[in-house]
Amino acid sequence: MAQMRRQSLVKFDAPLCETIVDTPKPKGAEVLVKIDRCGLCHSDLHIQDGYADIGNGQKLDTTRGMTLPFTLGHEIAGVVDEVGPDAPKDIVGKTFAVFPWIGCGQCRDCQNGDENLCARNRFLGVSIDGGFSTHVLVPDAKYLISYGDVPPDMAATLMCSGITAYGALKRLAGRARQRNLLLIGLGGVGMMGLSIAPALFKQAISVADLSADARAAALKNGAASAYDPSEADVAKRMVKETGGGFDAIVDFAGSEKSMAFATSVVARGGKIVVSGLIGGNFSIPTVQWIYKRMTIEGFMTGTLAEGQELMALARAGKVKPVPMKQEPMNDVQTWIEQLRAGKVVGRIMLVN
Ligand SMILES: [Zn+2]
Ligand SMILES: [Zn+2]
Repeated sequence: MAQMRRQSLVKFDAPLCETIVDTPKPKGAEVLVKIDRCGLCHSDLHIQDGYADIGNGQKLDTTRGMTLPFTLGHEIAGVVDEVGPDAPKDIVGKTFAVFPWIGCGQCRDCQNGDENLCARNRFLGVSIDGGFSTHVLVPDAKYLISYGDVPPDMAATLMCSGITAYGALKRLAGRARQRNLLLIGLGGVGMMGLSIAPALFKQAISVADLSADARAAALKNGAASAYDPSEADVAKRMVKETGGGFDAIVDFAGSEKSMAFATSVVARGGKIVVSGLIGGNFSIPTVQWIYKRMTIEGFMTGTLAEGQELMALARAGKVKPVPMKQEPMNDVQTWIEQLRAGKVVGRIMLVN
């Protein structure tokens, strides 16, 4: 029997290590994908930890009864190796990006196409085995997305940072209040947001980040203005310069400070979508919330339809690739440590 090699989580808050098991045989509509590459994401670090920081030194248990060993990794691209009896045969040997935010298929949210909201989800690399491996079992061929001429590294990351950025922006597009847009936090997802935003918004795009390098990169990549949130009285200046603040804001950082900053520069009737997972414990005077008539929406991942929409945008050349570095899959733990130490610029793509 064929075997697969995985870089597995065998203990929470401990390094990944290699496990070897028999390659699963796809049943029903399942599809076995031979993995070419899988991106490393900040959320992999949170899953490895087994907790999230909720501020004041407190931790939220995120292990949800996960059984170990477990394979992380959700930004997957590869080749269909084998299909179950109910899956289409003609996809064998073809390359795809894998949509990882898979629901149970039965509940109200799944029936509505909001699989990313499913409480009994089967998210690849989050609740069922994912992509730091030679193979992954995908529940249905409908989660495979053809990427055409899009570079495979980019196709893989579109399914996480891309879809999160796209979904967050979509929840701001089409509102009546549309004078301006501010993107806070220019990590991988924020930069992806900046690259996708012109496809959804006509107005000039502003950015804010603590890093001067990140601000310079954003200005080079289409941002009209860039702000340093640590500058004294910057919020006051921004509200003045914009004639009342920003109508639409995405907070790609999601920390106490970034949310305090976002709520200080949001316009009356404005909306903040927060999708960053840095964590902490954000508070706001209730009356400020009400006086400003602000909306705050939490968001992560995205729907299968959004994955397909985003890939169509990328195939039409409307999404700029973000810097990516290829590294061997076997070195994933080394890169996890580098990412934890803040030493990774751009994104790491682990290749088999
Ligand atoms: Zn991710
Ligand atoms: Zn469901």
